[in-house]
Amino acid sequence: MVWGQPLKPRSPWLTTPSLSHPLPVLDFRWQPAHGGRHVISQDLLPGDEGHTFCGLDLQVPRQRNTKTEWLWPTCQQCYDTAKTRT
Ligand SMILES: [Zn+2]
Repeated sequence: MVWGQPLKPRSPWLTTPSLSHPLPVLDFRWQPAHGGRHVISQDLLPGDEGHTFCGLDLQVPRQRNTKTEWLWPTCQQCYDTAKTRT
């Protein structure tokens, strides 16, 4: 993050970046991976490689996750980290 630089949207379906916001928005979302529901940065796009909040390597799937995957147990570490970010 370079201060003073406008945020560049990385995909056409991203909503308008909050340019008027003085601080970077800490945005995250839930992502099923490795048998559990983890939290990843909202910046990660399908196909990107990144890390969950609890430190697992992950490649964001290009397809939607199945309903079964969304029923995987919530990762407690990700949950706790996410809680501190809201
Ligand atoms: Zn996790």
